[in-house]
Amino acid sequence: MQLDRSRKMKENKNQEDDYLSPHFITRSNWLRAAVLGANDGILSTASIAIGVAAASNSREPIILAALAGLVAGALSMAAGEYVSVSSQTDVEHADIEREKKELAEMPDIEIERLAEIYEKRGLKKETAQKVAEELTAHDALGAHVRDELGINEISQANPIQAAFASGAAFTIGGILPFLVTLFLPLKSMEYSLYGFALFFLIILGALAAKTGGSSVPKAIIRISFWGTVPMGLTALVGYLFNVTAG
Ligand SMILES: [Zn+2]
Repeated sequence: MQLDRSRKMKENKNQEDDYLSPHFITRSNWLRAAVLGANDGILSTASIAIGVAAASNSREPIILAALAGLVAGALSMAAGEYVSVSSQTDVEHADIEREKKELAEMPDIEIERLAEIYEKRGLKKETAQKVAEELTAHDALGAHVRDELGINEISQANPIQAAFASGAAFTIGGILPFLVTLFLPLKSMEYSLYGFALFFLIILGALAAKTGGSSVPKAIIRISFWGTVPMGLTALVGYLFNVTAG
């Protein structure tokens, strides 16, 4: 009896913890950006270095290529993220301005539109109408921005922060293969680069899957395959180049 009760209490506590822990979705934005950035850093720096290693018999060009790829990749990743998040923010601001205008010019139609949205989500017509009226009375713009435009805090990223996070993630990822070009033996450089890059990618993929609550084995298979393709192809190009240049 006593045992049962304490086991029940433990179960409830775990369930409560589950309810209280932040949903995976709230971790998703920064996680996705960080993992994508680091993945790109590892994969593009390693692929560039592998291509040059396959075509070269000395270490300097490999180090130089890895470093150039790392710097160029980090800056272009940051610039790309800044531009895409800024334009997303611009679009959202323009939508919000238009919404403000519509609310001022045709408040009745806007309430109907909101009620329709709630009805589609499963509320009865009268309930939907009532909810729309009460939310409009409370904060009309907030209700429309959230429920009609679908803009919420989670989707609103800061362009500078996003650019910095992506550039930093790329750099952290790219430094790993760069260190391989500095310290691993030249003779088997391509294989070391491939092996270490795949190892780092698998660790990252497993971590991301675990944090995001998705299947770890699936993530490992996916990243291993899609990691091998670019590194394999750049090695091939390097070998072909070496043969023709030799
Ligand atoms: Zn509206």
